Amino acid sequence: MAKQTIEDIKEIKGKKILVRVDFNVPLDDKLNITDDTRIRAAIPTIKYLSDKGGRVILVSHLGRPKSGPDDKLRLAPVAKQLQELIGKPIAYVKDCIGPEVEKSVAALTDGDIILFENVRFYKEEEANDPGFAKKLAALADLYVNDAFGTAHRAHASTEGVTKYLKGYAGFLMEKEIKFLGQLLNNPPKPFVAILGGAKISGKIDVVENLLPKVDTLIIGGGMAYTFFKARNVSVGNSLVELDKIPVAKEILKKAIDLSKTIMLPIDHVVADKFDANANVQTVTRGGIPDGWQGMDIGPETVKKFGHAIKKAKTIFWNGPMGVFEFDRFSNGTIGIAKLVAAATEKGAISVVGGGDSVAAIEKAGLADKFTHISTGGGASLEFVEGKVLPGIAALQDK
Ligand code: AMP
Repeated sequence: MAKQTIEDIKEIKGKKILVRVDFNVPLDDKLNITDDTRIRAAIPTIKYLSDKGGRVILVSHLGRPKSGPDDKLRLAPVAKQLQELIGKPIAYVKDCIGPEVEKSVAALTDGDIILFENVRFYKEEEANDPGFAKKLAALADLYVNDAFGTAHRAHASTEGVTKYLKGYAGFLMEKEIKFLGQLLNNPPKPFVAILGGAKISGKIDVVENLLPKVDTLIIGGGMAYTFFKARNVSVGNSLVELDKIPVAKEILKKAIDLSKTIMLPIDHVVADKFDANANVQTVTRGGIPDGWQGMDIGPETVKKFGHAIKKAKTIFWNGPMGVFEFDRFSNGTIGIAKLVAAATEKGAISVVGGGDSVAAIEKAGLADKFTHISTGGGASLEFVEGKVLPGIAALQDK
């Protein structure tokens, strides 16, 4: 069901608007922000509401505070960075409920922007405590959710507040729903899904939901070896989830039943230990010899996967093709990133689920070559699994 967006709000001017953003940015030891992508991603929504005279109240979490306020997880560095990026003063208040907060909100004039302190300093946030949600909601007239990265969690600031305020999707949320939604509803064909990463475990539901919708499922990375094991191909010391072999067998059978193609690697870059300086060779035929482990897909595999990727009109990618953190084992992932980027240039829709695949694409300098890179790792996977995300479900239907 399509959701109402901030463009559906009739009167923004003068309204106090509680905006849930995802400012969960990485910080170094000196509390410098090492990647401000998430702040940048929220700016179109913040600017739109502020430019139209809304009184913008930003609320976010940062990290996982264990019990109460933690000086290492304050949003002060975010306030500073946001101010620089948006070119407007950002008021920052060191709490998110209580008298000081109420005073600051009462002092807002049209177009002002205020950032509250880390909402997870209250354990009531993650508990989705109704009393806490009510206190947050009481500060505003309307609610906007632009925090796709936490939309899979029913917390007070993502779900609870919508019991008291009308909820709208921000531009980032709208974009995520549009592109991830398109994968599930009538994606242009051929549809190719590329899954990689360490393990099958976290991706079984994705495979289950996508297999009937795709034409080709490409499997690379560590998770491919459980499929080889399921086919009785030797995998040496490669990563294998023994307890997932039956699931892998089922998936292979289901693909045959549904007449879908599953592509597995045909050559492997293998190492004699899990180390950047290990001895390395590329094996092409048969399985992986004893004493060696698969660390990356080989060049023939990149070519083979490329045949499917080049023909695709829709591509979904989640998970690296190898241990890309070590340069020697990053060629497969970079090769696939280049192929997906080239297909996108020729008109394919490419959607990358968050997490490690995004890190790999950034490492390859290709981040601007994809149709959509999701800002939510867990949230994008749950969306593609076909689950209802509480933070989205709680927003008003169109
Ligand atoms: P995930 O979070 O499941 O997407 O897994 C990402 C991780 O998978 C990355 O840290 C990669 O280093 C790792 N990975 C990819 N291929 C392999 C492999 N062949 N063996 C071990 N780990 C791998």
